[in-house]
Amino acid sequence: MDCLFCKIVAGDIPAQKLYEDEHVVAFHDIAPQAPVHFLVIPKKHIRMLSDLTVEDTFLAGHILYTAQRLAKELGCDDGFRVVMNTNEIGGQTVYHIHMHVLGQRQLTWPPG
Ligand code: AMP
Ligand code: ZN
Repeated sequence: MDCLFCKIVAGDIPAQKLYEDEHVVAFHDIAPQAPVHFLVIPKKHIRMLSDLTVEDTFLAGHILYTAQRLAKELGCDDGFRVVMNTNEIGGQTVYHIHMHVLGQRQLTWPPG
């Protein structure tokens, strides 16, 4: 499958990995938008959040759990933001579900 993040999961493309287990991989974003900016992805290829099925609900929770655990490990004790850009209007560019985790700077609202 011609998917960038599946290639990172497979180890065919290098990434600065922070964490990996049976279900997920976390790695630093290549173009960080904050001092802490990493992505948590499932090993399973799911195109976007709106393709999630009821069978994926454990996985979705595990992504969220991993995101906050690593955020704290990276010093984001005072807060952070998680984002899942979904489809074109949501600004998604890589079509393999991923949770952005951003921290260590004051984030503003609303986003662009
Ligand atoms: P999105 O625009 O929400 O689909 O996010 C895709 C993210 O993947 C962007 O923040 C990119 O900087 C990031 N990205 C693209 N290629 C790589 C890569 N090879 N390693 C790490 N992050 C990447
Ligand atoms: Zn994929």
